[in-house]
Amino acid sequence: MLDATLKTQLKAYLEKVTQPFEIVASLDDGEKSKELLGLLQDIVGLTDKITLKTDGNDARRPSFSLVRPGADIGLTFAGIPMGHEFTSLVLALLQVGGHPSKLDVETIEQIKAIEGTFEFETYFSLSCQNCPDVVQALNLMAVLNPNIRNVSIDGALFQEEVERRQIMAVPSIYLNGEVFASGRMEVKEILAKIDTGAASRDAEKLNGKEAFDVLVVGGGPAGAAAAIYAARKGIRTGVAAERFGGQVLDTMAIENFISVNETEGPKLARALENHVREYDVDIMNLQRAAQLIPASSEGGLHEIKLENGGSLKAKTLILATGARWREMNVPGEQEYRGRGVAYCPHCDGPLFKGKRV
Ligand SMILES: Cc1cc2nc3c(=O)[nH]c(=O)nc-3n(C[C@H](O)[C@H](O)[C@H](O)COP(=O)(O)OP(=O)(O)OC[C@H]3O[C@@H](n4cnc5c(N)ncnc54)[C@H](O)[C@@H]3O)c2cc1C
Repeated sequence: MLDATLKTQLKAYLEKVTQPFEIVASLDDGEKSKELLGLLQDIVGLTDKITLKTDGNDARRPSFSLVRPGADIGLTFAGIPMGHEFTSLVLALLQVGGHPSKLDVETIEQIKAIEGTFEFETYFSLSCQNCPDVVQALNLMAVLNPNIRNVSIDGALFQEEVERRQIMAVPSIYLNGEVFASGRMEVKEILAKIDTGAASRDAEKLNGKEAFDVLVVGGGPAGAAAAIYAARKGIRTGVAAERFGGQVLDTMAIENFISVNETEGPKLARALENHVREYDVDIMNLQRAAQLIPASSEGGLHEIKLENGGSLKAKTLILATGARWREMNVPGEQEYRGRGVAYCPHCDGPLFKGKRV
């Protein structure tokens, strides 16, 4: 299943596995089960730290779970995670095998402290570029906290399920059987949604901040540039962004950034953030501005009220809130978002296979 080059690369990665674990596969007589078995046999053939069992009893077939004895980890793939999901598979193998993630300590502790029951089901397609972030985020959360479990499901292989749930866009995330979200999400965005105390804790922190000389609302390329220009003048600068990186995060190949032949959106977004962090800029990510209250007198402070109840003040505001998918305002557009109304043809295309569009 894996070619020689991929095997060599994977073998090198698997050397980072420190804690032995099992892959428990649930298979049937179908071709896809044979294909998955081939992949899993290739993997266990590359390391003595991972063993394969094929007596799984998951109703979804083919599927497999990563099971570390003594640890309660709920991490399952239903389907064959190749294509864009191969990286998710490799990361899952490493993290279940005890290799630490690069996530910051504060976020790791926040994940570990989450209480409750969180059974996620994440539908992906192998050609979806936005899916791996979600799959990887939820898998990592499942590795860190036994209250969180994630099954990543290849929608193309589980068509009956996709039809029953009327899923027509990936990634589509379900939590405890209910729609949770769709579209690319990072760990911190997911956390903000499930950690109910986080919003008020954040608001409290933000309320305690001193007024900024310049506050930029928006963290896309425009907001990042504005922040750098301001901070270079030595004035107190902040960026409040719903999603730092902006639309760039949803872009895969970028080939028109002159002087850089080719780059990828998430890579460029990371570079933007690193560049901004070179300066003394207070980046407040995952903060959605809900209201602007202009200064009541000349030279006074403007106020940005945030959705979480917090508020920020500044002498000068720069609004760089960019753009969103254009909506047509036709009946049903919102209700059917992700259920027939799609914005990313190459992500969601496989789910429309054989259908009239
Ligand atoms: C799929 C896709 C592919 C693309 N490919 C290319 C390409 O190859 N080449 C190219 O040149 N361009 C491309 N673009 C366009 C490019 O990404 C945008 O032109 C660029 O990102 C605009 O930058 P911006 O900073 O003005 O806004 P955006 O990138 O839209 O950023 C807006 C920022 O404001 C934040 N924001 C919005 N509302 C609020 C609020 N109420 N409170 C707080 N924050 C808020 C957002 O979270 C975000 O951080 C592509 C866009 C998409 C979607």
